[in-house]
Amino acid sequence: MLSTLPELPVYNLWPLELSRGEGCRIWDANGREYLDMYGGHAVASLGHAHPVWAEAIAAQARSLTFYSNVADLAVRRDFAKRLVERVGVGMVGVFFSNSGAEANENALTLARTVTGRKTVVSVEGGFHGRTLLLSAIGGIEGYRKRAAAGGESLFLHRRELPFDDIDAPDAIVDEDVAAVIVEPVQGIAGARPCSHAFLQALRKRTRDTGALLIFDEVQCGAGRCGAYTVAEREDVFPDILTLAKGLAGGFPVGATLCTQAVAEYVEPGLLGSTFGGGPLASAAGVATLDILEKENLVDNARSRGEQIFRGLEAISGVLDVRGRGLLLGFRTERPSKEITAALREEHAILAGGCMEADVTRILPPFGLSESEASRFLEALSTILS
Ligand code: PLP
Repeated sequence: MLSTLPELPVYNLWPLELSRGEGCRIWDANGREYLDMYGGHAVASLGHAHPVWAEAIAAQARSLTFYSNVADLAVRRDFAKRLVERVGVGMVGVFFSNSGAEANENALTLARTVTGRKTVVSVEGGFHGRTLLLSAIGGIEGYRKRAAAGGESLFLHRRELPFDDIDAPDAIVDEDVAAVIVEPVQGIAGARPCSHAFLQALRKRTRDTGALLIFDEVQCGAGRCGAYTVAEREDVFPDILTLAKGLAGGFPVGATLCTQAVAEYVEPGLLGSTFGGGPLASAAGVATLDILEKENLVDNARSRGEQIFRGLEAISGVLDVRGRGLLLGFRTERPSKEITAALREEHAILAGGCMEADVTRILPPFGLSESEASRFLEALSTILS
């Protein structure tokens, strides 16, 4: 492994150094150009260095770079209003933070405050962030183990739902449950969509028992699945919805959105973050919403997603395809590590893995062109032939 010190190692690094990007293309320090089918972990929704987005941040930096949410700011107010309108699905309020994990931590704070209950239910394979609490409540065993001290979970009030089992909510969710948290399309588990029937079963059971339903759309939301949210796409409305990653086109921001019934419990002092919803993040967020609309990028994510999905199904050697929009995974006989290395080294295309060693995940910018999508499919087809 490459030594990364003084940075502590986080991932097994790709053997390259990135230096600049433009749209769906990115260059390494030696000047080699790549097609970015990974988007820096589903973040670069607008592509790299979008000039309008960059200018919005620069203009805000020249005017007011930072003030915390102790003061009202027009740019934050504007972002909140625009975001709530764009998300719809019954969301009326938003709390801004800086990451997906913070958005989810605050969602759980809200659920426990509203219900006065302790238990949190998550879904097998669901990933919600790397803080100690979220590692302990998530649906991935490896993270739960890491969060356990002396073999005992740091959070003793967790239950798990089997993935996409529509009978399980009735058996597992009861009046002790504060919240069910679910990724409507699981990301790290390998682009696995929950069925409409499962999401509906969760909605019905949480409503019947007084638990809150939290959609973690940190990876699948903000346009990636070919609608602004999966909640909208599936017409299933949660009580709380979280966004981050592509929300501000690459500027760090997390959002915890909630219904009127939840918002009524929020008084000053319950939630807080020094940097959350700062002027630069808010300006980047507003610019991202504008650009998505002007360039019709969510529709493009949907069409390119369908093109790639069909193209993958037609490649012999692709064993199965899953996902929605531009959050897609495909299984191959060869390990994903070999597939992503061949894409990168032989075809100058960046793609990523997931929890399953034989599933490759792609998360490109929404402006991907038809010919760029075809280039990826042709490269994969050559590798697998
Ligand atoms: N939730 C989901 C679905 C994610 O995919 C991630 C990150 O990969 C997170 C939460 C955590 O987000 P962050 O890394 O911004 O804290």
